[in-house]
Amino acid sequence: MSALHTLGVAEGLKALAEKKISSVEWTQSLLARTAAHQNLGAFLHLDAEGALAAARQADARRAAGEAAPLLGVPMAHKDIFVTTNHPTTAGSKILAGYRSPFDATVVAKLNAAGTFSLGKLNCDEFAMGSANENSAYAKVHNPWDLERVPGGSSGGSAAAVAAGLVPASTGTDTGGSIRQPASFTGITGIKPTYGRCSRYGMIAFASSLDQAGPMARSAEDCALLLSAMSGFDERDATSLQQPPQDFHAQMLQPRAGASSARPLEGLRIGLPKEFFPAALDADVNSAVRAGLAELEKLGATLVEVSLPRTELAIPVYYIIAPAEASSNLSRFDGVRYGHRCEDPKDLLDLYKRTRSEGFGPEVQRRILIGSYVLSHGYYDAYYLQAQKLRRMIADDFQQAFTQCDLIAGPVAPSVAWKIGEQGDDPVKAYLADIFTLPGSLAGLPGMSVPVGLGAHGMPVGLQLLGNYFQEGQLLHAAHVLQLATDWHKATPKGF
Ligand code: GLN
Repeated sequence: MSALHTLGVAEGLKALAEKKISSVEWTQSLLARTAAHQNLGAFLHLDAEGALAAARQADARRAAGEAAPLLGVPMAHKDIFVTTNHPTTAGSKILAGYRSPFDATVVAKLNAAGTFSLGKLNCDEFAMGSANENSAYAKVHNPWDLERVPGGSSGGSAAAVAAGLVPASTGTDTGGSIRQPASFTGITGIKPTYGRCSRYGMIAFASSLDQAGPMARSAEDCALLLSAMSGFDERDATSLQQPPQDFHAQMLQPRAGASSARPLEGLRIGLPKEFFPAALDADVNSAVRAGLAELEKLGATLVEVSLPRTELAIPVYYIIAPAEASSNLSRFDGVRYGHRCEDPKDLLDLYKRTRSEGFGPEVQRRILIGSYVLSHGYYDAYYLQAQKLRRMIADDFQQAFTQCDLIAGPVAPSVAWKIGEQGDDPVKAYLADIFTLPGSLAGLPGMSVPVGLGAHGMPVGLQLLGNYFQEGQLLHAAHVLQLATDWHKATPKGF
């Protein structure tokens, strides 16, 4: 048996079924690694005893012949999902010590499928950020280079999987927060179609964009997790009313008319010319091109398409997301839960000081921007215009999908940058979201798949976007690529 921390979800399930390992042994090995790599800052809360108790229970259930699909799989959740057995902070001081009376639907579904959580993973405060430098508690370090960021906002989720602390984690993606950290740490992640996973119990940032998804070391593992965590939820008004999906079965489904040598025969992959600008870093470009060349060898056809409003996705997103955030975050007022300032002199003082003390600078900046663009006199000029452009961006995708089945390009214009490198300029980070924001605004499913190393030996991800509900097709293409290549098996030195 190879070292237990290297097991993915599918491999681990097989080893459990064949009684080669127990869930307790698997969990113990992960807990030992987590303790040895605390310097990564990946966990905000670790619950070794709770995880071992859950593992023992899973082993007992398996011994009794029970067969939940993911029985005994240890994982960990981004600290944006509320959980009853662990505290939830959303990476913010304002929720320090908060305990939820219920589990997020995604967590409840994964628990019902047989997984359990080692604890809660670090993230940018309220999922606002691209580098995990906005967490109120600790910066997360990239296992490929401890001086570099792991990406964000699901930076803890990405670093934990890349370092082998857990085989899989949950993340959330509002404007790229599953895809970009997956790209920066060399793992695989999928943001499903908006509405596929319930937002109930997922602390809201920008409700019309927020979407949960799995992060793991292969497309196959992502498919297993996504099948368990997705599905209609009547407690989320934007939840998709679709029957439960077996994404793993869809992923394994061969394409009609394809051969085993050319399993992607007939698949048209569109390359938006706006995703390959002259300013794209050469190392990112060449890794992405290598990934595309493999897909071509596997039978896919590459076609040029255009998403003419790609650049506008940045201003549009950075109006809509803060607008929704300013509204969502009004509930943190020191009255109902979380931090409350000392000795408020009146109600206004309570609000002001609680929120000034509890929220970090990026969150405050977004509340200000959001309140401004929603205010009387500016609503029409900013928010309404942004909504119109959002629709046009979504229409551009539908136009492109008349010429192709999937869309591909880089996830981010560069590899992971150094911690602190962006200084105090938030706009630098905003600009780096250019390739993930269009798909988010359109509500489309998207993946990051590792395609090699770029500058400084840092991982590069290929972004694959599908049309609505096409997660199965996306996962199939990624899985076929991973069967033929080893990029996703690369691990950072020392891990
Ligand atoms: N980087 C983007 C932002 O800061 C996206 C974050 C996310 O997807 N949660 O808003």
